[in-house]
Amino acid sequence: MTQHHNLIAGEWLAAPNYAPNINPSNLQDSLGDYAQADVAQLDMAVAAAQKAFPAWSTSGVQARADALDKIGTEILARREELGTLLSREEGKTRAEGIGEVARAGNIFKFFAGECLRLGGEVLPSVRPGIGVEITREPLGVIGLITPWNFPMAIPAWKVAPALAYGNCVVLKPADLVPGCAWALADIIHRSGIPAGVFNLVMGRGSVIGDALVNHPGIAAVSFTGSVGVGQRIAAACAINMKKVQLEMGGKNPQVVLDDADLGVAVELCVQSAFYSTGQRCTASSRLIVTDKIYPAFIDAMQKRMASIKVGDACAAGTDIGPVASLAQLEQDMSYVDIGQSEGATLLAGGDRLQRDTEGFYMAPALLVDSTPQMRINREEIFGPVASVIRVKDYDEALAVANDTPFGLSAGIATTSLKYATHFKRHSQAGMVMVNLPTAGVDYHVPFGGRKGSSYGSREQGTYAKEFFTVVKTAYTLA
Ligand code: NAD
Repeated sequence: MTQHHNLIAGEWLAAPNYAPNINPSNLQDSLGDYAQADVAQLDMAVAAAQKAFPAWSTSGVQARADALDKIGTEILARREELGTLLSREEGKTRAEGIGEVARAGNIFKFFAGECLRLGGEVLPSVRPGIGVEITREPLGVIGLITPWNFPMAIPAWKVAPALAYGNCVVLKPADLVPGCAWALADIIHRSGIPAGVFNLVMGRGSVIGDALVNHPGIAAVSFTGSVGVGQRIAAACAINMKKVQLEMGGKNPQVVLDDADLGVAVELCVQSAFYSTGQRCTASSRLIVTDKIYPAFIDAMQKRMASIKVGDACAAGTDIGPVASLAQLEQDMSYVDIGQSEGATLLAGGDRLQRDTEGFYMAPALLVDSTPQMRINREEIFGPVASVIRVKDYDEALAVANDTPFGLSAGIATTSLKYATHFKRHSQAGMVMVNLPTAGVDYHVPFGGRKGSSYGSREQGTYAKEFFTVVKTAYTLA
C-alpha cells in the first residue's frame, strides 16, 4: 500500500506510524496509508517554518501571487481527479467533490490577486509636519487545524490567505481525510514555494493538534471543527496570548412561511438538510414551518425524500453518499432515537442502509412534532437528520430561529419582501439566505457566524486579512 509522508522543510519525511485511509462507500477500498506524525516531527515543521519566515515575509508580492496562481491553476485543471479522491475519502458525491475542488482552486486564484491588493492608509497627523501610515504585516508561523467535512476547501481557505499575506504555515488536517490535504501539499510543494514556507503534518488531533496549538513557535491558530475542541484551543491560545480564529458548529434554522413557493421551499430544505449527507456546518437541521403551509409542506417533503438516492459517493446517479465514519453514523442514528424518546415522530428514513459494498449508508431522517427545547433541536447532529418545528406565524418563527446557542447560517423561504427584509436584519446568524439553502456560499466574501459558531475575525474574501495580518501604525517627521 502506498505510504504518504509528511511534508516538512520541503522534504517528504517518513513518520513513525501510518494509518489507512478508508473509503466510507466501500470499507474494502483503501486510498493508501497516511503518516501519523509524532511531536518531534511537528517541532521540525515549526522550526522549518520559522526559518523560512524572514525571506518569505519580505519576498516580492509578484512571487507570492505567481505561486498561488500556479497552485490554483493546477487544482482547477485536476478538479475531476481530485474531486473523485475527495468523494472516495469523505463520502460526498462526485459532483459535490468536484465542486469543492473547484472552489479550492478559485480560492487560490482569488488570494493570488489579494497579494497585489494589500493596501494601507495614509492619514494626516493631528500634529503638524508629521505623516501617519497604517500598514499590515504578516504574523509569523500559523498553525492551521481543519475538519474532515471539507477536506480540500477548508485547508485551501486557510492556507491561501496565510501564504498570500506573507505568513508561513503548518497544516494539520483531520485524521479521517488526509488524502486531499496530502494532494494539496504535493501541488504546493511543486509550485516552487521555498522549502519550509508550507508544511504538512498529519496525525492525531489530541497529539499533533494539541502540540501545534501550544507550540511557542506558533504565532496564531486558525481552527475549524467542533465546539468542544475549539473551546480548548481558545483557552490555550488566550493563556499564551496567541491570535486565534475558530469556526465551529451550527444548528441552522430554515424558516418556511405560509406565503413561500412550496416547490422552492421543499427543494432548498432537502438540499440544505440532506445533501453532502447533512455533514456541512451550514446544513439546516431545524425546519421551522408556519401553520397554514405545514400540511402541504410535510406531504411534499415526504414525497421528495422518497426520491433521494443514497449510494456510493462516486457512482453516477447518487444524490447522497455515505456518512463519513462509523462513529458519525452511530451518532446520527442515536439522535433519531433521542428525538423519538423526547416525543418527536419519525416521518421518514433514519435507518442504516445496505448497498452492494459495505459502507456507512443512512436513509435521511425527518422528525416531525418536535419542539424547540428538544435535544435534536439544540445540539449539532452533523448528519442527514432534520426536524420540523411547527409555529403559528413569522414572529414565532423568528424567535425559534434565534433560540439557539449557535449562529452560523439561517434561511427563510418567503415571497414577502417585508418578511425577507426583516429576517435579514433580525436573524442572529453570520450568514442569511432568502429563498436559498442555508448551505452553499461564495468564495470571495466573508464566511462565519455568531454566538457559539465562530470566534475571532471572519474567514475568506478580503476580510481574511483581519486574521492573517497585524496592523502597524508608523509616524514620520516630515
Ligand atoms: P473536530 O473538532 O473533532 O476536529 C477538527 C480538527 O481538530 C481535526 O483536525 C482534529 O484532529 C483536531 N483536533 C482534535 N482534537 C484536538 C485537540 N485537542 N487539539 C487540537 N486539535 C485537535 O471536528 P470534526 O469532527 O473534524 O469536524 C466536524 C465539526 O466541524 C462540526 O462541528 C462542524 O460543524 C464543524 N465545521 C465547522 C465549519 C465552519 O466553518 N463553521 C466548517 C466545517 C466544519
